[in-house]
Amino acid sequence: MYANIIVDISHEQLDKTFQYLIPSELEDQIQVGMQVNVPFGKGNRMLTGYIVEITDIPEFDVTKIKPITSAVEGKVKVEGKLIQLAAWIRQNYGSTMNQALKTVIPIKESVKQKEKKAIKLIIPIEKAKEYLAEFERKHNGARVRFMESLIEDEIIEYGLVTGKLNIAAQTIKSFEGLGIIEISVEEYYRNPIKIKPKDEIRNRLNSTQKYITDSIKKEYDDGLRETYLIHGITGSGKTEVYMELIEHVIKQGKQVIMLIPEISLTYQTVIRFYRRFGDRVSIMNSRLSKGERYDQFTRALKGEIDIMIGPRSALFTPFENIGMIVIDEEHEGAYKSENAPKYHARETAIEIARMNNASVILGSATPSLEAYNNALTGKYKLYTLDERAKESKLPSVYVVDLREELKEGNRSIFSTKLQELMTDRLEKKQQIMLFLNKRGYAGFISCRACGHVMKCPHCDISLTSHNNGKLVCHFCGFEQPMVKACPKCGSKYISGFRAGTQQVEESVKKMYPQAKVLRMDMDTTSKKGGHEKILAAFFNQEADILIGTQMIVKGHDFPNVTLVGILAADMSLYASDYRAAERTFQLLTQAAGRSGRGEIAGEVVIQTYTPEHYSIITAQSQDYKAFYEQEIMYRTLLNYPPVCNMLLVKLSSKDEKALETATSTMKIGHNIKPKIGGVVHDEEGRKSEVKIEVESEGKIEPKETDNIQVIGPVNATLYKANDIYNKVIYIKAKSYQLLTKYKDEIELFAKDNVDFRKISVQFDFNPMNM
Ligand code: ADP
Ligand code: ZN
Ligand code: ZN
Repeated sequence: MYANIIVDISHEQLDKTFQYLIPSELEDQIQVGMQVNVPFGKGNRMLTGYIVEITDIPEFDVTKIKPITSAVEGKVKVEGKLIQLAAWIRQNYGSTMNQALKTVIPIKESVKQKEKKAIKLIIPIEKAKEYLAEFERKHNGARVRFMESLIEDEIIEYGLVTGKLNIAAQTIKSFEGLGIIEISVEEYYRNPIKIKPKDEIRNRLNSTQKYITDSIKKEYDDGLRETYLIHGITGSGKTEVYMELIEHVIKQGKQVIMLIPEISLTYQTVIRFYRRFGDRVSIMNSRLSKGERYDQFTRALKGEIDIMIGPRSALFTPFENIGMIVIDEEHEGAYKSENAPKYHARETAIEIARMNNASVILGSATPSLEAYNNALTGKYKLYTLDERAKESKLPSVYVVDLREELKEGNRSIFSTKLQELMTDRLEKKQQIMLFLNKRGYAGFISCRACGHVMKCPHCDISLTSHNNGKLVCHFCGFEQPMVKACPKCGSKYISGFRAGTQQVEESVKKMYPQAKVLRMDMDTTSKKGGHEKILAAFFNQEADILIGTQMIVKGHDFPNVTLVGILAADMSLYASDYRAAERTFQLLTQAAGRSGRGEIAGEVVIQTYTPEHYSIITAQSQDYKAFYEQEIMYRTLLNYPPVCNMLLVKLSSKDEKALETATSTMKIGHNIKPKIGGVVHDEEGRKSEVKIEVESEGKIEPKETDNIQVIGPVNATLYKANDIYNKVIYIKAKSYQLLTKYKDEIELFAKDNVDFRKISVQFDFNPMNM
């Protein structure tokens, strides 16, 4: 047996491994992640390294492979655990060991440490309050906001001021000129903001929150480690529950990782955690460079922090003693990695918790089918919060049938009901959000005479028309001028269908010329911080109406919004994806949850062409359980996750012929099948129930029966994208472990096969997007 070893774990080149022979006396104790002493280089100088892989295939002349000298005594170090985790990720999601290592190990880059700017109030609070009064008199919104924040917290990170608070650099300069503030430069890896913890403003938990936290704390103290699912409507006080549990765990000297989707990482959330936990918290976001991420992780390794909050990648924070992992908005698609290894943060968190003897808390208003199914079958423990923590009531929801509107001669994109309510809100000076569900929908251009659709020459998808007179491919960025006549038949009647956010904005302006409108979509947010600026402006009531896509439904709390209009609820139902109904329900529920967050009750109008669809009916009544019942029936009927597991194998190549040749040799279940057995039923539908032998503790024994279903290789929906051709294979089975064996076999099949030289093979388990 041989071991592949990394001698410098913090080096950029993690793929630089060296192979050593495992001496027979060490064979029993050697494992991935272990530290060993090895002779290195010509002089055989002694170095310690980590084992990243154990194999029986020598990489070079066996007589020249040096043996490992000895194992390093003591418990597995944090780095060792991360290497073990990388091996688990590689096995369960498919990738190279190097890709898996790069995912979990923070890498030091040879870049200079960045400096960080912070803004500090340098005048007494009384004086600051005088300024504040003056700015208020002058109705200077930005200055008021800035001054208020400085009074709250004397030191604020520069980026937060320009970003989340939406203060212009000019305003900051003028404050500096007036001698109100000082701009200081700190060493980067210090805490991003300094905020004093404030105990006195802590909420007293209500009885349900208390019941939940008491039960979980008790189990924790009894040494039980579980996965809990907290199903709580938005605003029901889930975050409050997380904070209570986190405090309990860190008091015992352990550390906590809390994942939240980037988009909900708002200024308010950040502040809430700093207030409660002071500078023992660190926050990550995906805009951090590798070097910055490394700095954050260094703080964790040194024990300078107890809590790491961040997106997916925060899971790999090298804490010495993890006690709990929290995943807020557990259902979010962002928790699944889009690049190899395509790991899911939920499952990976559960594995990390297992390795570290920690508990996992999942929370959501609209749990994923997977999580809720696990909760119902007892794999997770379920708790429910079904009332808002503050007095505010859930909004009233109306569903409008757009077909009826058309029959009655209303050709506008706003139904009569929505128009009526919009007029009312504008009069009352309350705010409105208009949500255009754009997922799975393309604003394509087609010919009304012959039906020809304008498509990207590089990708197989339709082009979208933009206001600047261009047709754009949203997949690869290709642009061309708008056509005046159909390139196929010459007809002049070539135009777009349906509305985009720009058209919605135009219609609103025509109908309500006095209203101030903000629009949030890919175009208006492409600049850095654009997203936050728009949200901040709307939050500060600088506009009456906010128009946007899914970006506006999450995160921020706008107390003055009392009307939400969902313009075309069923757009996301047209996507050819088994999760379409789930996504529609989530989006509608979240969008509806934006209305009436303050003291005044809110209303919601859902406009749709399919009012009879269960995802719309259950979203109207805000009834998650009813939705789940229907949806799980559908998944059972058609055999989709979570009822089974599904492996998507993607085969791609620039060379169409090579792809055809390679894939035509693949016969899943015939020439590619796990040696442990299992018969597949093929496309003709011949089914046979078979014994699957599952490996357990080194022995191979028959354990469960499973039906394996194979689709493909077939052309992918996006057969040609970016000049690359794609084919897919879907394999469905009850057993996840069995699917990982198919993955191994496919890897083996492709490895030394000349036909596969130009083919890239990628795996995606239980894909989020088909
Ligand atoms: P969620 O995470 O479920 O959306 P939050 O924890 O953010 O809910 O709570 C929603 C709002 O209610 C917040 O403003 C929070 O401060 C407040 N809140 C939560 N729990 C309580 C409580 N027990 N008493 C008073 N206010 C509360
Ligand atoms: Zn035509
Ligand atoms: Zn394209």
